[in-house]
Amino acid sequence: DSITVGELAKRMGVKANELIAELMRQGSMVTINHPLDYESAAILASEFNYEVENVAFDEETILEVEAKKEAEDNAEDLKTRPPVVTIMGHVDHGKTSLLDAIREANVTEGEAGGITQHIGAYDVELDGRKITFLDTPGHEAFTAMRARGAGVTDIVILVVAADDGVMPQTKEAINHSKAAGVPLIVAVNKIDKPEANPERVKQELTEFELVPEEWGGDTIFVEVSAKQQTNLDTLLEMILLQAEVLELQANPNKRAKGSIVEARLDKGRGPVATVLVQDGTLKQGDAIVAGLHFGRVRSMTTATGKQVKEAGPSFPVEVTGLGGVPDAGETFHAVESEKAAKDVSQHRQQKQREIDLAKSSKVSLDQLFAKMQEGEVEELAVIIKADVQGSVEAVRDTLEKLSTDSCRLNVIHTGVGGISESDVTLATASNAIVLGFNVRPETKAKTMAETEKVDIRLYSVIYDAVNDIRDAMEGLLAPTL
Ligand code: GDP
Repeated sequence: DSITVGELAKRMGVKANELIAELMRQGSMVTINHPLDYESAAILASEFNYEVENVAFDEETILEVEAKKEAEDNAEDLKTRPPVVTIMGHVDHGKTSLLDAIREANVTEGEAGGITQHIGAYDVELDGRKITFLDTPGHEAFTAMRARGAGVTDIVILVVAADDGVMPQTKEAINHSKAAGVPLIVAVNKIDKPEANPERVKQELTEFELVPEEWGGDTIFVEVSAKQQTNLDTLLEMILLQAEVLELQANPNKRAKGSIVEARLDKGRGPVATVLVQDGTLKQGDAIVAGLHFGRVRSMTTATGKQVKEAGPSFPVEVTGLGGVPDAGETFHAVESEKAAKDVSQHRQQKQREIDLAKSSKVSLDQLFAKMQEGEVEELAVIIKADVQGSVEAVRDTLEKLSTDSCRLNVIHTGVGGISESDVTLATASNAIVLGFNVRPETKAKTMAETEKVDIRLYSVIYDAVNDIRDAMEGLLAPTL
């Protein structure tokens, strides 16, 4: 990806000659059409401090230039940041109890007594070292956040009840964290129970390549009781140990970016969003873009209700001042000015409108993959028309076998003969595609399909149709984790 000197100058709102002069000063002789990669563009732009206010920076320029600047973090700017932890596991295995127990036992000294409120994340301290917990447990929230682009979790705590062992959601949690490439620590919970059998849990988990260290593996297991607050410090120690291995770092000395953990509309305060800073430092008064919305940080509140003026890496705070409510999992960026924030947000809203428009149009095989990724299509409705009844049945049988858990193939109508207006009407109403075998659409039906954007596919061989659909479905089935 590159941008010409002239284009960069335009977007920055400075004369191209000034950029060329600066480049010359740095030793490169270039023309106005010279392409700059983003790194060079970022360096060049930073020389000018983005000094012109009235420029319609578009999203790509602002965010990519920011992103590239980031790649230039000097080693000495990088500071260790606290790990961000999500708790997962089967229902009733004690996720919520564990989150509560950890919070109660480890509220930062001096903040104890402060009313802790649910803002979607909280941080605790052990011997002066911090850990951030996302307090919406479970893999659904985790994966929903990832689907929107937020990979905020550094470490997953897999809770398995010692009296119950590995259950379906335990497996799902393992698969979701594996898919995300996030390391996992096992908390064998409820060891206070007389029927607890931690050894069995360990045994069962070996099947998932989660093997405790004492058995020659490299998975950390901690036996805990959320109820009796047993071994919670050990669990925190292990989290910190794992975090050290991960060498989690961030540069606090730059504009913040991160993810929205939770957001809602508060009657008195307007849109309220819990943000997790992933890099940089968020400051009161900063202009920010969050998802489709923008604003200025009016106030920042921690989970213990303390007002703060700054939030550094891995530090969750509740922010007011946005113009609207973003979705959990969306990213936020602090940008140089409210104008820039507004530009980015408008650019995104425009994009969103295009996506919405595309959504309201009819389904077609070509778009299936995209629509599926939007979470829009879980079923492909099909109308089959053929020259003989035998073909209709053969096609129906073959196609229905293509159904999977994530995309059902639903034959809503079949018939012998040409594709009629009524077929197209049905397809319009049911958002279906029409498959014709050795038949053609009637003229009126064809016109109607064009205006209604109904996808009609004509085949002479069943095999070809099956292939096309399978291809589209395989797009559908590509992992969206
Ligand atoms: P979640 O569905 O995973 O969030 O599980 P909860 O935290 O709601 O716990 C489910 C049940 O297990 C509750 O009745 C808890 O009181 C109980 N529980 C959780 N942890 C422990 C524990 O360490 N020991 C015992 N005996 N019960 C526990």
